[in-house]
Amino acid sequence: MQNCNTCGAPAQRPISVDFEGKSGIYDSFECAIHDVAERCSHCDCVILGHAVYAGEAPYCCEHCSGRS
Ligand SMILES: [Zn+2]
Ligand SMILES: [Zn+2]
Repeated sequence: MQNCNTCGAPAQRPISVDFEGKSGIYDSFECAIHDVAERCSHCDCVILGHAVYAGEAPYCCEHCSGRS
């Protein structure tokens, strides 16, 4: 059985993620998000919705991107 790349627990129903060159096997969406999801360059929260880009940097919202 494969182990989760984030927490190391055996993945009973493995979730395989391949995103922008990062790939891994996870036991839950929470672990997959924790490892793979982009983070806001301003407040460092995990971006689960649509990211706002200012140049290369991803932000969680218009407010964080500083272009409000
Ligand atoms: Zn895990
Ligand atoms: Zn933010």
